[in-house]
Amino acid sequence: MSETTIFDKILAREIPADIVYEDDQVLAFKDIAPRAPVHYLIIPKKRIATLNDASPADQALLGHMMLTAAQLAREAGIAEDGYRVQMNVNKGGGQVVYHIHLHMFGGRPLAE
Ligand code: AMP
Repeated sequence: MSETTIFDKILAREIPADIVYEDDQVLAFKDIAPRAPVHYLIIPKKRIATLNDASPADQALLGHMMLTAAQLAREAGIAEDGYRVQMNVNKGGGQVVYHIHLHMFGGRPLAE
């Protein structure tokens, strides 16, 4: 079992977050340090430290995270213009919180 992280505290409502969506599998909330006008994090309720720790049993959950990102982009009104979905993996990939999460951000032109 992986270590607890700040996202467990958000899931447990022990620290506040600006929650934009929740269902039985995922929680989505606004990133505390947004890199774009819209910047949400979509996290599974199941604790998985990194994408490297996901297994075939997590396939549907990972797909659900992606579809949730697309749905939230539509609801935020940025789907047509475009947005980015990103998952950082381990230190070299820029991962800071070791509970997998999708970044969904947009609302401005994204270079590169
Ligand atoms: P990563 O670098 O992919 O692990 O991204 C972690 C993200 O979590 C960063 O974009 C942080 O700004 C964000 N973050 C950290 N703590 C919080 C928090 N309490 N509420 C919302 N977002 C957070």
